[in-house]
Amino acid sequence: MSRNIPEVIRKAVAERSGNRCEYCRRLEGDSFIKFQVDHIISRKHRGQTVLENLAYACAICNGNKGSDIGTILHNTDVFTRLFNPRKDDWFDHFEVTEGLIYSKTDIGEATILVLNLNEVNRILERLDLIEAGLFP
Ligand SMILES: [Zn+2]
Repeated sequence: MSRNIPEVIRKAVAERSGNRCEYCRRLEGDSFIKFQVDHIISRKHRGQTVLENLAYACAICNGNKGSDIGTILHNTDVFTRLFNPRKDDWFDHFEVTEGLIYSKTDIGEATILVLNLNEVNRILERLDLIEAGLFP
C-alpha cells in the first residue's frame, strides 16, 4: 500500500531502485502504470514508513503482495518470509530462464508464489523485454 507517502520519500525510494520494481525487476519506463512504494513489512504488521522498510514496486507486485510478509511452503507448517529488497540480493534468490523467474531459495519460492511472478502475461511481457535487451 502506498497511501500517504510523502513525495520526498517516494522520490528517494524510486531513485534508490533505479526506477525498477524491486520484486520482479521490471523498469517503470516499461509500464503504463506508475510504480508504487511498498511497505516491505506491511503496516498491518507494524512496518514503519521509513526508507529501510520501503521498496519500489510495480502495481502488480504490490497488489499481489498486499499486506503479506510470507507464506507456508511445501505443505508444511513452516512459515517462510518474502524477499526483502533491503536485506537480500535479488540474484541470490532468483534467476531468469526463458522469461520464467526461478527460485534459488525458499524465500525466492515464497515470493514467486505470493507475488505471482510467473503469471502467463507477466512471462510474455518479460520475454518481450528480454528480446529488447531491457530485462533483467
Ligand atoms: Zn513487479
